[in-house]
Amino acid sequence: MAQIRVENLRKSFDQFTAVQGSNFTIEDGTFFAMLGPSGCGKTTTLRMIAGLELPTEGKILLDNEDVTFQRASARDIAFVFQLFALYPHMNVAENIGFPLKCQGMARRDIYQRVQETAKLLRIEHLLSSKTSKLSGGDRQRVALGRAMVRRPKAFLMDEPLGALDAEFRHLMCSELRDLHDRIGATTVYVTHDQLEAMSMADRIAVMNQGRVEQIGLPQEIYDRPASMFVADFIGSPPMNFLRFDAGLRSGDRTISFHDTSIAVPEIREDRASARMALGVRPEHIRFADAAPVRGEVFGAEYLGTTQIVTVDTAHGRIAARLPSSAPVRIGERVGLEFRSERLALFDVA
Ligand code: ADP
Ligand code: MG
Repeated sequence: MAQIRVENLRKSFDQFTAVQGSNFTIEDGTFFAMLGPSGCGKTTTLRMIAGLELPTEGKILLDNEDVTFQRASARDIAFVFQLFALYPHMNVAENIGFPLKCQGMARRDIYQRVQETAKLLRIEHLLSSKTSKLSGGDRQRVALGRAMVRRPKAFLMDEPLGALDAEFRHLMCSELRDLHDRIGATTVYVTHDQLEAMSMADRIAVMNQGRVEQIGLPQEIYDRPASMFVADFIGSPPMNFLRFDAGLRSGDRTISFHDTSIAVPEIREDRASARMALGVRPEHIRFADAAPVRGEVFGAEYLGTTQIVTVDTAHGRIAARLPSSAPVRIGERVGLEFRSERLALFDVA
């Protein structure tokens, strides 16, 4: 069990900086997701925590002990790349026990540990099976067992379900989370899939271009995104943005577009000259005849209980999530009303 802390963690490869000075603490027992698009520095960060890559600058602390220069094998952390890689010539028990055999543990003790691990994973009945005979799910469980058997302080998982089809991924996600709840070891889970991160993690760090843009509970990140990048990356369809030249004074309760005035949460500071964007999630929009923003319905996508309706306005194309029962006609002129308490304001970079 371990708390993981990184301080001013930076990594450059020649001229290119892949990780630009990260600071965060992962509390003991947390399921922590690192989320961001391909190339944002997730794997590099994870490899530094594991000890597979030396930071250019900064520190890594495990339970307050500085391990920055400690080699990977001394850190007592399991790095899980991909859950499928198993040794084909060994049976399940031998696969799971292999790391302990390498450590030189006595056979009796290995047997004990393998049994315990298999029990946690609910695969005791498979211990003498050949791995080639296993289903995909059981192969994943065995691979996970091999990572767990040393009882590491923490698990680092780098897109472990990346190669699986959608349905199976979903199943393995809930199994991984369930397993985490039963063994309680700190887990750092890297993914580019916002739904995986949102559904599994206690806390999420959203990364972009080598920087952590926001860390928080899934709901905080969804409801109060710290930047346009986060707002755009989380949510499907993403948040709508309406750009405008600010001219805002602290205390203002409305913002003006060229032809509209929209109620917003109170403005906290003067933004006299900034370029701003108003952010509104599709589910916080509804049709209302007298609403200030008007446009023409462009399309509607049926999703069962809801539909995504796109409307072309003077501020661009806006997506609204409406009940499927709402009557919508393509080409119709409509007014869009925003739930003002759920609006977000962003500085445009
Ligand atoms: P992610 O896992 O988020 O997709 P990575 O951490 O793998 O991102 O990579 C971040 C950036 O660093 C990428 O632009 C990648 O090309 C670069 N990078 C990663 N490893 C190396 C390396 N060994 N040498 C040079 N560039 C690297
Ligand atoms: Mg990666």
